[in-house]
Amino acid sequence: MTLAVHTAHISYPGPDRLDVSRGVFCPSAGPHVVLDADEYVQEMRDLYRRDRGQFDALLQAPRVVLVCSCLRPDRCHRTVLARILTRLGARYYGEIESWDTTVEEPLFARRSA
Ligand SMILES: [Zn+2]
Repeated sequence: MTLAVHTAHISYPGPDRLDVSRGVFCPSAGPHVVLDADEYVQEMRDLYRRDRGQFDALLQAPRVVLVCSCLRPDRCHRTVLARILTRLGARYYGEIESWDTTVEEPLFARRSA
């Protein structure tokens, strides 16, 4: 089973949403700072080393929608986290702009390493 990852604004109401504006996947500086992607990736590397089960639990689900209250997904860590998950075997299907539609094609190809 390959985890299908989407991202969306926090108003997305689906049962498969995961609010990453809090909890272990939230940047230490808070969810709404201007995103330093490199810094966030490093934090997630540290988390993976410290508590890999957080990622393994996610990867066992069929589908997850990473949600945050940032309006712009390109400025939000949810998109960076989605890309990190592709390195762990997931597929990223993009931001859900409307709850009725989902992107069919993965935006980022799965990487082998
Ligand atoms: Zn955000």
